[in-house]
Amino acid sequence: MIIKVGIGYDVHALVKGRLLILGGVEIPYERGLLGHSDADVLIHAIMDALLGALALGDIGAHFPDRDPRYSGISSLSLLEEVMKLVEAQGYRLGNIDSIIVAERPKVAQFIPQIRSNLARVLKTDESCVSVKATTTERLGFEGRGEGIAAQAIANLEKVGG
Ligand code: MG
Repeated sequence: MIIKVGIGYDVHALVKGRLLILGGVEIPYERGLLGHSDADVLIHAIMDALLGALALGDIGAHFPDRDPRYSGISSLSLLEEVMKLVEAQGYRLGNIDSIIVAERPKVAQFIPQIRSNLARVLKTDESCVSVKATTTERLGFEGRGEGIAAQAIANLEKVGG
């Protein structure tokens, strides 16, 4: 079987006056992530992992932040577009692992809903979609609450390969 692996990493700043969306879930918090789209840092890292596995470039190339079509767009719909690219190349998702790096808010209680959202769009079972969360022990920009980072790794399997 042909297997491809990709990694993704993303960071967005936390600011007042924005919703906090992670994995397509609106998380109650006093600030949200700044960005051209809904700034869903977790999904952005996952999309870069999927694109990376097939050497298809990065999300900045596919969804430029100067393009008004993507202003405020749900990153779940961008993820849907990336999955179409994956399928067009003849691959399907094997599994994904990911980490949200945030001092606050605590996101553990939202992870089941995030995994469910992701599994639906990725056309896979929730058992193939891992989402974890960690702090940085108050160190660095995440620890100071200036922003949230996310990392993801994806493995894709060639259909019929
Ligand atoms: Mg991003």
